[in-house]
Amino acid sequence: MPESRVAVIEGDDASPEAVKPTVEMIDNMNLGIEWVYPPVGAQGEALHNSIFPEEARQLIDESDTTLFGAASGKSAFALVYLRWGKQTYANVRPTRFMPGCQSPLAQPEGVDFVIVRENLEDMYLMVEGAIESLAPADLVSPILQKKVAELGPGKYAVKVITEAGTERVARYAFELARRRKTGGRPGKVTVASKYNMLPQSDGLFRDVTARVAESYTDIDFEMMIVDNFAHYLVRSPQELDVVLLPNLYGDILSDAAAGLGGGLGLAPSGAYGDDYAYFEAVHGTAPDIVGRNIINPTATMLSATMMLDYLGFKEEAQRIEAAMAAVYREGRFLTPDQGGTARTTDFVKAVEGKL
Ligand code: ATP
Repeated sequence: MPESRVAVIEGDDASPEAVKPTVEMIDNMNLGIEWVYPPVGAQGEALHNSIFPEEARQLIDESDTTLFGAASGKSAFALVYLRWGKQTYANVRPTRFMPGCQSPLAQPEGVDFVIVRENLEDMYLMVEGAIESLAPADLVSPILQKKVAELGPGKYAVKVITEAGTERVARYAFELARRRKTGGRPGKVTVASKYNMLPQSDGLFRDVTARVAESYTDIDFEMMIVDNFAHYLVRSPQELDVVLLPNLYGDILSDAAAGLGGGLGLAPSGAYGDDYAYFEAVHGTAPDIVGRNIINPTATMLSATMMLDYLGFKEEAQRIEAAMAAVYREGRFLTPDQGGTARTTDFVKAVEGKL
């Protein structure tokens, strides 16, 4: 009997080139993981005229977790199910500098923080439309003192922040800070939003997180406007521990954080709900390097170690991370994005060799 069942969606473009060797490497560790492959259909195909095929949904439901490659076309449907269908509300994106990585910082040592991005709300409900269609709502911009519908041809987008959605992700962030504190981190949560310009929606995010903070007196708490936070992120990343952001800011600033750590090729993520979690690299499908066997698999491999941790294979996750750190320290088998000439599979083999 397998100990765990993992659904694998290899993703699009260059993504499978990172996912396949990662799965192979873990499979070689004989942890009793059964890998299943939900069918996501051909590129651009509208499967069974529905957003996502039933068979794939079932395989995901019957698995303990999903390892997901980056999506552009077909696999994007799966991502919608993994996020909104499985209510994976906390998107956890760690940035930890590994010596040997090509960080643009002069002194990247000690950078070790985690962005927790709210994963389901904000601008990502895809509610947009024509400005003229707002006429019946009679919305007035307090700044322009004018009806929005009268601004001329254009589009609007809706931003939604709910109390319950904010509270659950805030609790997740504080619990994470507590867990990290037991591992020697400072125990701090930094929250940022644009509450000066959006006092209702981002103001709610601020107020709810401040309320949650009151029940975590052992964790330091700081609140800032998101543009100040962007500055702080670049100037003093070593001072950060856990960062909590609404969806859109979290999406953008976690790519910036990945850049600080050494690039998109290194940045992992896990998205956690109360009953399910999936794991994927922060980067996209890297279409410009498809088929060349040079995509850096580090982001996918680190996402897989987060997955192993989630499944209870904590020691194995640590072993893989230590092996990767050793390969970076030695610097002999690095992919081109990190200044090396190694191919994807060479890097994975080098890590395997250290296990
Ligand atoms: P998408 O639309 O899927 O987000 P994109 O091209 O807009 O695709 P990314 O796929 O994130 O965005 O790629 C941005 C750049 O970073 C590309 O030049 C890509 O090759 C590079 N890149 C992304 N991930 C990696 C990786 N793991 N290893 C090497 N280069 C990468």
